Formats: sequence, C-alpha cells, structure tokens
Amino acid sequence: MEPLNLLDADNSSLERFFTTLGEEKFRSSQVIQWIHKSGVVEFDRMTNLSKNLRALLAQKASIALPDIFKERQSNDGCIKWLLKLNDNNIIETVYIPEASRGTLCISSQAGCQLNCTFCATAQQGFSRQLKTSEIIGQLWLATRQLEALGGNHRGITNIVLMGMGEPLLNLSQVLPAIRLMLDNNGYNLSRKRVTLSTAGVVPGIDRLREECLTSLAISLHAPYDELRDKLVPLNKKYPIGDLLEACKRYSKSNNDSEITFEYTMLEGINDQPKHAKRLLKVLSSVPAKINLIPFNRVEGTPFRCSPMKSIDRFREILVKGGIISTTRKTRGDDINAACGQLAGYVQPRAPREISKSSWAD
Ligand code: SAH
Repeated sequence: MEPLNLLDADNSSLERFFTTLGEEKFRSSQVIQWIHKSGVVEFDRMTNLSKNLRALLAQKASIALPDIFKERQSNDGCIKWLLKLNDNNIIETVYIPEASRGTLCISSQAGCQLNCTFCATAQQGFSRQLKTSEIIGQLWLATRQLEALGGNHRGITNIVLMGMGEPLLNLSQVLPAIRLMLDNNGYNLSRKRVTLSTAGVVPGIDRLREECLTSLAISLHAPYDELRDKLVPLNKKYPIGDLLEACKRYSKSNNDSEITFEYTMLEGINDQPKHAKRLLKVLSSVPAKINLIPFNRVEGTPFRCSPMKSIDRFREILVKGGIISTTRKTRGDDINAACGQLAGYVQPRAPREISKSSWAD
C-alpha cells in the first residue's frame, strides 16, 4: 500500500485509515490538530501518540506539502505565493489583508477547463485537478508563512475558493479540503467565512448543498444568456434560468442566506444601464448581493475595464432597485495577484522550463 499523504485526508477518511491500522478512531482528531492547528508535520513531535504508533505512521503515511517557489508582496500588503507541485505545475495563492479580516484566495485546479474569455487562467489551459493535499496545503503554508512574517499580519479569517480553476469541477478533492477548513480540530472556520466561487456548474451547486454548505458566489457577468454564452461559455450548458433555480435551492437550504453574484465590469460589453436594470429583474427572486469587479487587464484579451463613472452609475441603479451592491477594490494588481490574473505555470501539453527569473512582473 502507498503511504497515505495525511494532508489528503479529512476526519472521516483519517478515521477509516486508523481503523485499518487497528487503532482508535480518535487518533484522527489528534493528528488533524497536530498538522493543521499546530503546524506539526513530523511524526516524532506528535507527543500524544505512542512511540509505536509514530513508528507505524512513519511507515504507512507521509505528510507532503507543495513547495514555495516564490513569495511576493504587493504595495498594498497582499502576498502572492507561487507553489510548485511535484509534477512541476505551478499554482497561485493570494493573501489579501483588510482592516477587519484577512482573506486567503485558494486555487482548486492547475489551470482551468472553462474558457471564460476575459480570464487569465483560461489562457493557460488546463493541466490537472489539484489533490486535497494541494488545496489544503495552500492554507497550511500561508498560515505558517504569515506566522513567520509576524508583525501586523492579522492571519487568515476568511477563505475564498476564487483562485485558479473551477472548484465545482473538482469537488471530490475540494470537499475534504473544505471539511478541514471547517473542522474544529483543523482551521475551525465558520461556513460563512468559507466562500466557494463558481462559474455556474449546476449539478456541483446541488452536490455542495447536499454535502457541505458554505457561502456561495456565482460568477455571473451578464444578465442575458446571449451575452453570457460569449463571456462564460459554460452558460451554454447551464443557462442563467437553470443556474438561478440552483441558487434558490441552495439559499433555501442555507437559512435563506444571500448568494453573492460577481460581475466583472467590461467597458461597452456588460456595463450599460440596460444591463443593470435587467440584472435587477433576473435576480429579483433570489436572495442576492452583487459584487462589481473592475476588470483587471489580461494580455491577449480585447477587454478593457469600465470607467469608474460607469461602474458607479451601474451600482446606483442596482442599489436603488434594492440589491446590496459593492464595488470590489482592486488589490495586488502590481504583482498580478488581482482577480482573473492568476495564471501560474501549468502544463497543458508539454512541460515547460521555468526559472525563477521568468516569473516577471
Ligand atoms: N471558476 C470559478 C473560480 C474563479 S473565481 C469562478 O468562475 O467563479 C475568479 C473570479 O474573478 C471570477 O468571478 C472571475 O469571473 C473573475 N475574473 C476573471 N478574470 C477577471 C479579470 N480579468 N478581471 C476581473 N475579474 C476577473
């Protein structure tokens, strides 16, 4: 049997693992505490396990994290990590400090299968699914790096699955990672502080609702199917009507909580008053709030960000119509860490040679 990377396991699969070793189930919560709460990844330091058990774990298990390839801080305090996986794919994780919280933006795939026309990740193509260890490993590493940096870092209070990839197309690996985020013995975050963002994979929304409720964000970007088909091609498979029905079901199961709709503002494309009015209409039957995202420049795409005046006008129409709407501040753009700028270096076809210096600004 291959040694189990313990970072791939949430509490229930770790309980099964200990049972097969002939051990008590509660060893699972002890080990999760060591790894995720205390940051201990050497079996010898897990002092409430017997020496025999530690020796057994050293044989049957491992604790393997991605490598930090590069760390960069932006002028506004954001930190971006490039993490190298064992097959040389490179993924990105971003820490975004604000006055009242610290948010970690986590990737769920190396590259992305969806071809959203304005997104940098899409241009990289798709390499592979991330494993649970590579997803929760981002949180493990960021937590330790922030501790090491010390000073005025407030730590991680919120997680957004809004990095590279579509989390609902990798749920079998994403769900155990989310469970570790929520686990009292793990990161102990409340469901409200873990947000999964999706381009609208309807069966995935239903599965998340049934298996593990979190806060939900939908990358909408257009109020008409015709336009959304072009911006988010997944819309051809799951059109706006079906998507909103799934959102209603989700909200209902989640105490009628609001769903966040992300709307990237593209000049002359989706930013006119008629779009705002239509948006009010289509969202009228869903508990919704809207997050307007100024478009961040992505080379190779024809899009430009709407002028601030148009964004303000758009938001006013929404607010007058009774929907809570905010404009997302652009953060970390000097290090290409802003929304839609995460590209990493994934290997859709042949491996590419990467050197640290090739990771230019
Ligand atoms: N696949 C998921 C997770 C990625 S989230 C999803 O689509 O929700 C990344 C968010 O940033 C999405 O809302 C995405 O549409 C948005 N985005 C992508 N490219 C962008 C860009 N260039 N500028 C601003 N936002 C962008």
